[in-house]
Amino acid sequence: MGRAPKKADTGGRPSGLPLPDPKGALKAFYAGTRLESPVGGFLEVLGVHSLEDGSATVILECSTSSIRFELPIKAATRTEKAKVKQALADGSDPTCPRHGSEQRLFREGSLLVCHLCGIPFGKAA
Ligand SMILES: [Zn+2]
Repeated sequence: MGRAPKKADTGGRPSGLPLPDPKGALKAFYAGTRLESPVGGFLEVLGVHSLEDGSATVILECSTSSIRFELPIKAATRTEKAKVKQALADGSDPTCPRHGSEQRLFREGSLLVCHLCGIPFGKAA
């Protein structure tokens, strides 16, 4: 009782159609290769929106039809967070466990976030 209603999913953030093969799209996204559009052409990453629960949504636009798609990205797992914590403990620059050792994590407030997938993987030291 008296609890504020949960923010609706449509709360102003850009949205798109779900991709028919989100698993394949995610794989390509993490590998940094071009994503094929389900309607022909390629998908360009328009932006990444980090969500409050630690997950994120990537907004993609088809290069030929301009149709927008969205790709949900799962929040960091315990293993991934542990990896980042270990890197910090070792004194090395933590990198994105999904994007690989070339993609450094950036400090956003108290969090370490991958700019490509929008996922916070740990707390800044
Ligand atoms: Zn990443």
